[in-house]
Amino acid sequence: MSIDGRVALITGGSRGIGRAIALRLARDGVKIAVNYRTNEDAAKFVVSAVKETGGEAMAVCADVAQSAAVDDMVKQVLDSWGGIDILVNNAGIIHDSLLMRMTEDVWDDVVNTNLKGTYNCTKASLRHMVRQRWGRIISVVSVVGLEGNPGQSNYAASKAGIIAFSRSIAKEVASRNITVNAVAPGYISTEIVADLSPEFKELIMSRIPQNRFGTVEDIANMVGYLASEEAGYITGEVIRVDGGIEL
Ligand code: NAP
Repeated sequence: MSIDGRVALITGGSRGIGRAIALRLARDGVKIAVNYRTNEDAAKFVVSAVKETGGEAMAVCADVAQSAAVDDMVKQVLDSWGGIDILVNNAGIIHDSLLMRMTEDVWDDVVNTNLKGTYNCTKASLRHMVRQRWGRIISVVSVVGLEGNPGQSNYAASKAGIIAFSRSIAKEVASRNITVNAVAPGYISTEIVADLSPEFKELIMSRIPQNRFGTVEDIANMVGYLASEEAGYITGEVIRVDGGIEL
């Protein structure tokens, strides 16, 4: 039993964690639709990397916060490959601010991309999974969505919302052989973490028992496992991949 030949749509698959997930699933023989919003070159780079190893991939542009754009993107994948078996809701943004200073735009931006984007992509992909009675929906959330973090109330709320959403959808579609799970990374070495101040990085490191930031592969490996046949009895779960961090 393998997922060779299945089709995955990875939102925000062009950079960071999403790119690592794309490369990992491609290694398992999965055809990869690499979603991006603005950076077409980065998405094309991932497509080329997959093709160089003999895999199949295409870049698909859509702002996940826009339902019409998501519907068009899903149609593009279905027209090309006839289905979507694995959806990875990875696209996400941060825009940190203490609540007292947080504007409505900043709140809306983060919640619409992270939470509404997950709703848009899941709803658009689910119909096909239900019909074929097999599916994997995996959302990349954050330990911040489990524990909260000062200055990140919008981000934490969006990620906590995705967790509750996943657990609910897991119950709705369990009988159709579709699993719905979330992976909660701690601090992972990506551009988001590179932009943190040295003092803040040091503070975070002091809270990670493994004494290192995670790698994008640490997250991709867990997503790869949850997408596999072997993980078929795991649903409605949130799995932390965080080196033991306590925020
Ligand atoms: P990243 O390097 O900033 O990459 C973000 C990706 O999302 C890019 O491919 C970007 O595409 C895409 N994206 C952003 N907004 C989008 C939108 N509206 N529609 C479609 N695509 C959009 O981020 P990352 O650090 O890899 O994070 C990936 C996920 O992991 C996020 O959900 C994040 O919250 C979560 N996470 C990250 C960490 C961490 O330490 N890095 C920790 C916990 C959780 P464009 O470049 O084309 O805009």
